[in-house]
This record gives sequence, structure tokens and C-alpha cells, in this order.
Amino acid sequence: MSSILQSLTTAPGRFGPYGGRYVPETLMVPLFELERAYEIAKSDVSFQSQLQSLLKNFAGRPTPLQFASRLTEHLGGPRIYLKREDLLHTGAHKINNAIGQGLLALKMGKPRIVAETGAGQHGVASATIAAHLGLECVVYMGTEDMARQALNVARMHLLGAQVVAVDSGSRTLKDAINEAMRDWVTNVRTTHYLLGSVLGAHPYPTMVRDFQSVIGREAREQILAAEKRLPTHLLACVGGGSNAIGLFYAFLRDSDVKMIGIEAGGRGNELGEHAARLAAAQGYAGARPGVLQGTYTYVLQNSDGQIATTHSISAGLDYPAIGPEHAWLADQRRAQYSAVSDSAALDAARTLARTEGIIPALESAHAIAGLIERRAQFTPEDLVILNLSGRGDKDMDTYSRLL
Ligand SMILES: *Cc1c(COP(=O)(O)O)cnc(C)c1O
Repeated sequence: MSSILQSLTTAPGRFGPYGGRYVPETLMVPLFELERAYEIAKSDVSFQSQLQSLLKNFAGRPTPLQFASRLTEHLGGPRIYLKREDLLHTGAHKINNAIGQGLLALKMGKPRIVAETGAGQHGVASATIAAHLGLECVVYMGTEDMARQALNVARMHLLGAQVVAVDSGSRTLKDAINEAMRDWVTNVRTTHYLLGSVLGAHPYPTMVRDFQSVIGREAREQILAAEKRLPTHLLACVGGGSNAIGLFYAFLRDSDVKMIGIEAGGRGNELGEHAARLAAAQGYAGARPGVLQGTYTYVLQNSDGQIATTHSISAGLDYPAIGPEHAWLADQRRAQYSAVSDSAALDAARTLARTEGIIPALESAHAIAGLIERRAQFTPEDLVILNLSGRGDKDMDTYSRLL
């Protein structure tokens, strides 16, 4: 068992060959500074007690692990539990990481944070913790995403954040990250870059995973209390991969627990029509290892190595690279990844709404769709924990238009 764990992380910031720190020289010093601050914070009693207090009293942890009785009956297969991250303050798991990094910015004496956002959830989480801790906040967001997520833009404004529209490239998350990095390089002495997923250069993928792994630690305790056994399967949607690794991490040593990540299959298999980086077996084209935004991982790219445009109905899953730890878990076959289409996700959102009375975020609806598509592979003895990463309020325009 320990050999699995040893091979999972071979060097600091490396997951097998993936991860690392591929950045211009100007970013090396701030990344080292951040890594050191994070290492100190890990064993700093006052940091940890502030973190626990904010997670509990501000964000609303622990979140329930809810038995989904009517969805279980509807699918006629495994027993299904939902980890209710949608019930957190601001409506998604993103706040777990935002609280951790917001506190870290305070510890480092940085009064200003910059963040990027796709679905707007990370921007809202960043603006929220910035307001709560008295930090200045600037959020970069692609104009395409601003149109899709107008409600979240209004929330960020109300919270006192400045939202900067990014009109370059595909006008989505990738372009917003470029702009946030540019700002960070320019203002590094006063500014912390609050990255929203398990992406970017070391220490971000490790640090964000650690802040999100509270999800799996709670879920493990809760399922053992409720069912007196470990789950057979974990399911989560995968954009950058933070909610998925947040659930998976506490179960990595439990080799009987199968882990399934669901990506955005968009509207087709061809490059440009999807955001499926680890689903080549299903015919999704264009992913191979490469460097994007500081990390070595699977990246959607054309034959010349140009980063591909991506499509997903869900802004939070619409990104050409995947967190490097997922690339390694996939290579090791410790986790499996597959993609579901836009329309399967929409149908799944309706199914969850009508069986459980929960309107999921479009991202989370992908995980539900992945479960529904696999229903024939399960037995009634199987026990599933599905991470409900966020609530659907932000997606009501899309639901009203398409359902
Ligand atoms: C941002 C977001 C995601 C995707 O991000 P990960 O880092 O892959 O978790 C998933 N669900 C919701 C609700 C989100 O807001």
C-alpha cells in the first residue's frame, strides 16, 4: 500500500512526471515565498485554528452527506450518497480553498488578491473572503463567461471586488488566468494570486488539494458512521479537478474504493467541441501531455501544439488542461475518467431536481450524468459517494432556456 502512495508523489510539486514549475524567472521568487509560507502555515497552530473557525462558522462546514433515497430508487442500482458542497456559503466548494489562501495572504502581509474565474464561482468565493478579511480584490474574467454568468458578476461587484473583463483569446478561463498572472508579476510585493483549482505551478496544485481535502476527510467519517463500511465508488466532475481531488484524496490508500472523474464532453468528439482531457478512450480528440500555465499535464492541443479552444455548457469545466495529479492518477489507473455531453448533463440536472429536490450546478450535473450513464455497471451492494460541488442558481438562465 505504501508503495502506491510513494509513487503518487515522487518529488515536491511532482505527480509522477506531471506538475512542476514552468514559469518565467520573475515568478520563481513569489512561488518560493508562497511555498515557504504555506509550509509554515501547515503546522502553525493559530493559522489552523483560524482556518477551522472560518470553515465552520463562515462557510458552514461540515457539509451533510445525504442519502439520496429517491435517486437510488430511480436508478435501481447502487446506494447513492451526496456530499452537499452546494450548501456551503457562496454555493460551491470553491470557498474552502479561498478561505485557506485568503488567510495565507494575510499571513504573508499582502493586502491585495487577484483571482481568475470561469463560472464566476471562484471569483465570488475570492471576493467574499477578501471582503471578510478586509483585503482588496481584483477578479479577471473572460467576456464570454461574464455574459454566461451575469449574476455572479453582480455578486462580485456588490462584495466590493473589481471585475476586469478579458477580451483576448477565447474570452474564457484560460485567458483570464493569463491576465491574472500578468497582474501578479507586476504587483507581486503587495499581491497574492488566489488560484482557484489544482492547476498552475507548484505549490498551487498541492496547496489547493490540501485545502479541498476536507471534503473527503468528512465524507470518509460520515459514510463509516452511516453505513459502517467504505464506499465502493466516488464520483465527481473534473474541471481543473479541485472538488474531485478534494473528495478522492482521503481515500487514495483504500485501494478497493474506485474513483471516477467526469469531464465535459460538450457537443462532440472533435477538437474544439469539448473539454475532455482524459477521455481519449471514448474518442475525444486532442489531449496529450504538455505545459500550460505553469504545469506539465494533459492539455488539449492541435498537432502543432497550439492550445485548443474548448466547449462546455458549463463554464466551470471549460478549460483545456487538467490538474497534474489527475493526469498521474489516470496514468496509474488509480482513477478513471470519462466524459458526458452537454445534453446528458442537462437531463441529469432535471433528474436530480425531480428526484431529490436539489437543483445542481451544471458542473455537478456532469457527475450525476456520469453516474446515470454507468447505472448498468453497478450492483445494489455498491455504495457511491457523489460530490455535489455546487448549487444551480447561477445556471438558471441556461436551464430556463434549454429545458
Ligand atoms: C469551478 C467549479 C467546478 C470545477 O472546478 P474543479 O476545480 O474541477 O472542482 C465544479 N463545480 C462547481 C460548482 C464549480 O463552481
